[in-house]
Amino acid sequence: MKLILLGPPGAGKGTQAQILATKLGVPTISTGDILRAAVKNGTPVGLEAKGYMDRGELVPDAVVIGVFLDRISQDDCKHGYIFDGMPRNLAQAQELDRQGIQIDTALSIEISDAEIEKRLTGRRVCPDCAATFHVESDPPQKDDVCDRCDSVLIIRVDDEAETVKQRLAVYHAETEPLKDYYKGQGKLITVQNINGIEETTAAVLKALGI
Ligand code: AMP
Repeated sequence: MKLILLGPPGAGKGTQAQILATKLGVPTISTGDILRAAVKNGTPVGLEAKGYMDRGELVPDAVVIGVFLDRISQDDCKHGYIFDGMPRNLAQAQELDRQGIQIDTALSIEISDAEIEKRLTGRRVCPDCAATFHVESDPPQKDDVCDRCDSVLIIRVDDEAETVKQRLAVYHAETEPLKDYYKGQGKLITVQNINGIEETTAAVLKALGI
């Protein structure tokens, strides 16, 4: 299974990617997670990416494509993958095609901007293993503690209200047109995220025929 997850920030791409990755036994490649790890480790890529990420803008294509190609050249990607957050604009989608990186399906998770703004304020993430929780819809077993690795959960800088508005604007301008791009290739499937994680997962599995 070679899958791209499309959708605005906070649509549940990361959560669905984790569920699908476990079910299908393929890795999730999240460029956001790779970039956040680079920022945390203070690498040259991280230093370059940080300002863009904090402002809710896209990191330049050359930087993202470089770290992405490194990651997918690893052995665990040989038999499939789920891309979460990549490609994010037309140039990146065309670069994947040029590199011969094949995709079976682009799955777009649809949700309104108003719902996104409500959801992102409640999002909590693990700074160590990148697991994601939500204070209301997907709370950790212990308040503010990661179920997987026991680290203290944090609120991402880019989940603050003004930055969320900027990220939504970037999504509509740059990423949403990819739906037409993949529709043109006959690869687009859309799923509504209306009633939370479990119903969305059920709709995703049904749409993918698994
Ligand atoms: P995400 O966790 O996917 O929402 O990504 C967080 C941030 O990382 C985004 O707001 C961008 O600044 C940056 N980012 C992640 N993936 C990409 C990408 N494919 N192209 C450009 N910037 C990206």
